[in-house]
Formats: sequence, C-alpha cells, structure tokens
Amino acid sequence: MEPLCATRVIENQISLTNLTLEDIKNPRELKNLTISKTQLQFIAADAFQTSRNLIYLNLASNRLQHLPWTIFRPLRLQELVLVGNPLQCGCGLRWLQVWQATRQAELGNQSLTCVEGEAETPLASMVLEGCDVPRVWIDYSNASLREGESITLTCHFAGQPRPEVEWQVPEVGTAPPLVSQSDSELVLWIQNASSGFNLRNITCQAENEAGFGQDAVQLDVRFPAVIKYVDQAVNYHLWCIPFSVDGNPPPQVSWQFDGRSLNETDYVRTTLIPDPYRNSTVVHGCLSLNRPTHIWNGNYTLIVRNPLGTDSLTIYQHFMDVPESFNPEDPIMVSLPPTSDRNSTLAGPVETPEEHTFGVSVAVVLAVCACIFLSIMLIVLNKCGQHSKFGVNRSAVLAQEDELAMSLQFMNLGTSPLTSAESKLDALKTNFIENPQYFCSTCVRHIKRRDIVLKWELGEGAFGKVFLAECHNLSPAQEKMLVAVKALKEATESARLDFQREAELLTVLQHEHIVKFYGVCTEGEPLIMVFEYMKHGDLNRFLRSHGPDAKILDSSGSGQSFGPLTLSQMLQIATQVASGMVYLASLHFVHRDLATRNCLVGRSLVVKIGDFGMSRDIYSTDYYRVGGRTMLPIRWMPPESILYRKFTTESDIWSFGVVLWEIFTYGKQPWYQLSNTEAIECITQGRELERPRTCPSEVYDIMQSCWQREPQQRQTMKNIHSRLQALAKAPPVYLDILS
Ligand code: AMP
Repeated sequence: MEPLCATRVIENQISLTNLTLEDIKNPRELKNLTISKTQLQFIAADAFQTSRNLIYLNLASNRLQHLPWTIFRPLRLQELVLVGNPLQCGCGLRWLQVWQATRQAELGNQSLTCVEGEAETPLASMVLEGCDVPRVWIDYSNASLREGESITLTCHFAGQPRPEVEWQVPEVGTAPPLVSQSDSELVLWIQNASSGFNLRNITCQAENEAGFGQDAVQLDVRFPAVIKYVDQAVNYHLWCIPFSVDGNPPPQVSWQFDGRSLNETDYVRTTLIPDPYRNSTVVHGCLSLNRPTHIWNGNYTLIVRNPLGTDSLTIYQHFMDVPESFNPEDPIMVSLPPTSDRNSTLAGPVETPEEHTFGVSVAVVLAVCACIFLSIMLIVLNKCGQHSKFGVNRSAVLAQEDELAMSLQFMNLGTSPLTSAESKLDALKTNFIENPQYFCSTCVRHIKRRDIVLKWELGEGAFGKVFLAECHNLSPAQEKMLVAVKALKEATESARLDFQREAELLTVLQHEHIVKFYGVCTEGEPLIMVFEYMKHGDLNRFLRSHGPDAKILDSSGSGQSFGPLTLSQMLQIATQVASGMVYLASLHFVHRDLATRNCLVGRSLVVKIGDFGMSRDIYSTDYYRVGGRTMLPIRWMPPESILYRKFTTESDIWSFGVVLWEIFTYGKQPWYQLSNTEAIECITQGRELERPRTCPSEVYDIMQSCWQREPQQRQTMKNIHSRLQALAKAPPVYLDILS
C-alpha cells in the first residue's frame, strides 16, 4: 500500500515526457506537487481529474509548450508555478493571461513569457486577435411560476472562437426540456415545471480554447402544501411524532389533538429540522412531547397550509397504558390534554390545576427534606473534607491541578494545543499512525446524495450532527432502509483528509459487534458518513434509562414495559462489547477511547462498538481538559496512559474493565464522586473502582484482572470474552438484592 503522502517532488527525471492520470499515485491525498527540470512536454487532459486536494502545483523548468486550461478544470489551485517553460503564444494561453490579471491562482512574481516565432514576449503583453474568453448571461421574464406551467430561459453567449454552449439541467423526473440554438443564444424550454427544480441550479456553460464562462438561475416553482408522511412516535430524548411536509411557499404547520387545535408549549411543540443540503423544499420535523403519559394517547392531526392549498392527516398514537390503579374519580384521570378550546395553561404535559396543587405540596415537602439532607451532608463533608474517601486531600490536589495539567500537556508528544474537535481528529490521526495497515482508499463506497433523505437529528458528536435518514439503493434486498448519517461540521482541507482516512478505516473494520459502515457521500457539503441505524442510541444513555429507578417504556413505541436490566442482560451486553474488542485486538487496532458512550444499542439488545474517535461534545464531563485544550477520557485510562500517553491493546483492556463497571452501575460515571484531578490521583496511586452493588464477584474478578498495574499482567481480551461468555450462558446466583 502506498504511504500517506501529501507532497511529492519529481526533479531531474529526463525520461519524463508525458504526464497521465496513471502517473499520479494517491491522487486524492496529494496537496503539493512539484515536477521540475524534466523533459515534460505533454499533460493529459484528465491527469488531475482525481487530485481534488491539489492546491500547489510547480511545473517550473520543463519542456511544456501547450497548456490548455481544461487540465486545471477539476482543481482549486492556490499557487501555480510555470516559469522556465517554452510556452507558445496563442489563444490557448489566454486563460493564463486572465489568471495573471485576476489573480485567480497565485502566480507570484514569476516573469512568465511565451514564444512567438523566434522571439520571447512577456505573457502580459501578448496580443491576440479573435480570442476572447466566453461570456454568458441568462435571460428570463420571471423565474417564479406554478407547478405544471412552462418557462423559457435564454442563454446569451459571446466569445471567440465561437464557444461550445450547453445547459446543465437537474434531473427532476419530468420530460427533458427542449433546447434550440442560434448564433448567439441557446434557448431552454421547460414544459410542465416540477417542484423538484426549486433550490437547484439550472446552468448555462460555454467554453472555447480561451476559457470558460457560465451563468445559473434557480426557479421558484410554487405548489400547494402537502404532507409526505406522518409516522408513529419514536422515543429519542423526547418523544417525536415524525413528519415530512412540502410546499412552496413553505407551509405553516399546526396540530389537532382529538379534533381540537393543540396549543404548543415547551413540553409539546413542533420542531423543524434544518436541511443541511438546502436543495429541497421538503421539511422534516417532529411533534416533540416531553414525557407524555396515557392522557396523551389519542388522534393527532397534522395540518399544513400555504396560499395554494391545505392538507391534513391523522394518526392514532398510544404512549402508555392507563395505570392499573386507575380511579375515574382521580383528578389526574379526568384532566384533559391542553388544547386551545379547553383553554388550559400548561406548565407540563399533563398538569392540571388539581395536580398542580398536589405537585406543589409534594415539591415543598421534598424541598424541605432535601434541605435537611443537604445540611447533614454538609456537616459530614466538612468533617471529612480534609480526608476524602480515597485519602486524597482535596485542597492539596486543587493546588496541584495546574501543575498536573501542565505536565500532562507537556506529555502531549509535542503536539500543539488542540480544540475539542481538533483533538478528536488528533486522536484519529494517532490511531491511523498506530494502525496504518487498515486503509483502503478504493474500498470506500460512495453513496449518491439524492439517495439520502434526512428524517431528524439523533445527536451531536465532535465530528458534527448525527441524523436519522432513509437511504435508497443501499442493498439489493431493500429499496430503502433506515441509516444514521454523520455530517462533518467543518470541511477544512485537513478535516476532509481525516474524513477520508476515517472512512477508509471504517470500511475495513467489519465485525458483527462493530457498527456497520455503509459509505460516504462527498457530493458537495456537508461531507457525510453513512452507518447502520442503532435504534436505542448510545449504550451509556441506554444503561441510565434501564436502571433500578427507571420504569420506562420501550423506546420502540411498542408500549412494552421494561424494568431494570437483569444480570443476564448485563452479561449479554458485556460479552458483545468484549467480542468487538477481541476483533480490534486481533487486528492490533488500538481504540483509545472505549467507553459505553462510544457503544451503540440496536434491536433485541444487540450492542456494537460505534465510535472510533471521541464523542466529547455531549459527554464533555467525561473528559479532562489538559492545559485548557486537549481532552482526555482519564476516568477510563490506565496509569501508563495518564502518565506517559501510552495507548496500547493493554490500555484498551483497562478501559474495558471500566466499561464492565459502567454496565453494572447502570451507566454511572467512574469516580463520579471525585474531581478529575482526584480521579487522576486515585488511578495513578493504584486505587480501584469499588464493586458495584449489582455485580457478582465473578464479574468483579474480571474487572480487577483488567486493572493490573502492569499492562502485561492484564488478561487478554480473548480470555475476558470467554469468561464473560461462560457467565452469560450460566449466570451466577447473585445475592445482592436490589431494593
Ligand atoms: P457520535 O458523533 O458518534 O458521538 O454520535 C453522537 C450521538 O448520535 C450518539 O451519542 C448517539 O446518541 C447518536 N448516534 C451516533 N451513531 C448512531 C447510530 N449509528 N445509530 C443511532 N444513533 C447514533
């Protein structure tokens, strides 16, 4: 495999006369290319077709006589060096004269000349007859029309020699438009205009030997408001009744509940999801409900309107069974959900005046209890303050905090201070350097943007937002399927490169307990990665919502009730994470950030490792900011990683022990009772997390075998997996009983 190489220099190669696409190795990674002092005479038209990242091109002192502008069409060059070539004056060099005048790419202080007969002329003073870069302008009476109407667009053009002109019209599934041409016009006639034209460019392009010109227009095709779909609610952070609507002008959205108009509040409201591509009028959104109870079961009617029409659709939504202790006289049961007709004021989704009074009384009693409890705690803490649970003197530790941060920063292998997103990328890069053999640039699947239809937001990580989406044509068995897409926040050159490398890596990592990566979409922005959708989201949140206190509904909306996770289920989860880690260890791939927040839960309690970077934005308290910038997941790190930034398969094993601890505490934060500095002290002094109350000693033994101070003494992932598998098959009798 070719090494990662952003800069290439080819000098003094007298055998080099022609440059073709095949001569450029790793074209996608190439940023700086120098070919100098060679016999290069000819560059193929498609030589730089795939070198999209090339920004610096030095072709000085070769034998180039002709250099058509079309060679550079795919590039966004920042600097071009051409000095020292016997360029022939002529219309084919006109573009270079224009670049020189307009500084389209930096040509610096090169004194460019061209050869005319025997004489050399400065490029700037080259005079050309009958040689003009094409000019193009589109003419139309009114780009605003109703769906089904027709429109004529006229593209005027000028330029010498006479340019080749064409229209670029987006495919919108209607009959292709008609085109007619005269000497100086190309007329486009769109019959039966479709709404698909909205927000998409219709472009007229002209090119000749001297260069290229274009103009674009967007149609405003008006059509009535329409509902594309409304679906059963799903539970993600909040409950969401998802919908998609369309219309131009953009429709207004309102709801009725059981036939009466629904007043929106902080607890029940419509949220619209911005379209990151901005190339469609379809709007996706949710009717979001915060902890709805049974009184929110009923008919939801979505109504959309714009000046051209109205549409409505009703679905029945069941959130929760009526509680068994249902008493028709109970005030909460006779209360009604807030609709404008009922004129109720809402402080919460189900609150009524009676309930409010009851709620206030309970709140007052609770507040008094909390105050008494807090006062007692403060007295106790004051007494213990000098000596915390782990013998760490808090004030002493705080005094050392800056020093510690500085020394950790110093140990940051000399890298410059990083922001959160940068440090994620830094972590990825380090993984790449540690694991260079896992790249395969040709294997990454490219998915068409039009095949991805966003539904709503699932979360946000350091890379950017994560959306639920429908993806068409992904598998031959299914016309469309649900996927999770990650949209890259900022597409700087280096972020793009990291994106490409992560995609290559993810394509190679394939295992039943590693989240499935389908491919990328790199047409335009944002850059997108497409993953299998894991219905229950990240494992940490899943554990927290399935703890002993959580009496919640299954987020599938099936209405099936779940209690806390059983021992057997916890072992099942742990075994699956271990299985994914055995796979990574077998490839000598070091994860560096194994934690439940980086695992995902799908249907039927399937768990997969889901993130190979750092999901720091949401769980920022899980990371320790070193020296103000770099973030480290210190609570999951062994002493050698904290002290020496040494990350190995063995440090992943330590983190796996912490993951086991998280699973058996229903997602508690390791060392939650300690500050970051105290946690660092404890870990480096050799203290261990305590056995969780719900954890059998057989499982705690496994945790402890992961937390051996000497990395080599830690048990292998394979062994750990076998032990967990055996325990999952025959769970130990477990004596600690939850209250
Ligand atoms: P990340 O950028 O990987 O940290 O993701 C941010 C959040 O998006 C996670 O905490 C999950 O809640 C959600 N998420 C990420 N990937 C998926 C997926 N494949 N399926 C479902 N939810 C996901």
